[in-house]
Amino acid sequence: MRIVLVGPPGAGKGTQATRLAEKLRIPHISTGDLFRANISRQTELGKLAKSYMDAGNLVPDEVTIAMAKDRMSQPDAENGFLLDGFPRNVSQAEALDELLKAEGIKLDAVLDLEAPEDEVVKRIAGRRVCRKDSAHVFHVTYSPPKQDGVCDYCGGELYQRDDDSEETVRTRLEVYHTQTEPIIDYYRAQGLVVTISAMGPVDEVTSRALEALKSGQ
Ligand SMILES: [Zn+2]
Repeated sequence: MRIVLVGPPGAGKGTQATRLAEKLRIPHISTGDLFRANISRQTELGKLAKSYMDAGNLVPDEVTIAMAKDRMSQPDAENGFLLDGFPRNVSQAEALDELLKAEGIKLDAVLDLEAPEDEVVKRIAGRRVCRKDSAHVFHVTYSPPKQDGVCDYCGGELYQRDDDSEETVRTRLEVYHTQTEPIIDYYRAQGLVVTISAMGPVDEVTSRALEALKSGQ
C-alpha cells in the first residue's frame, strides 16, 4: 500500500506512522528521517539541505522531493510506503503525483488523522519533560507525576519546552491550516482521502486506521 499520512501537530501522527508501517510491512518515510539520513551520509542532497538549515532557512521543496524520490526507489519500498511529513503543501503534492506517474504507480490512500483543535492544544501544552532526561515525559492531565513538577523516575525538575507552549502550538496549527490542509482537498478530488478520529487510546486509533484503510473510507 502507498499511503500519505496527514494530521495536525499533536494528533499522534508520528506514533501512528510507526505502528501502521509495522502492521502493513511497509517502510515509514518521514521527512525528519530523510534529512537526518542524507545529512549524516553526507549525500549531495544532504549537504544542500544542511546549507539551508545552517543559514536558518527552510529547505526548498525541490530538495525534499529529490530526497523522497531517492528513498521511494529503494528496494524495501517496492510494495509500498507510508509518507509522514511529506507532502506538506499542494506544490509538493503535485510534484509527488508527477513522480509517481513517471514510475507508473499511484497512491492508494491519504489517511487524515482528525483531532479537535482544543484537544491538540491541551495534549501538547500539558506536556512536561524532565531536565535530566528528555525521555522522561509526563502530562499534567493524562499522565501526571506523583509529585507536581518532579520526575517520577529520577527526581529531576519537570518543565515545559518552548516548542510546547500554547502560543507555539497555535502558530503551528495555523501553519498546518494554511499550508497542509489544502492538500486534503487536493487529494479528496482524487477520491483518496480516508478520515479517522485521532482521539482515544493509541491502540484504538491504530485499529481504526487499519480498518478504514481496508474498507477505503
Ligand atoms: Zn527524569
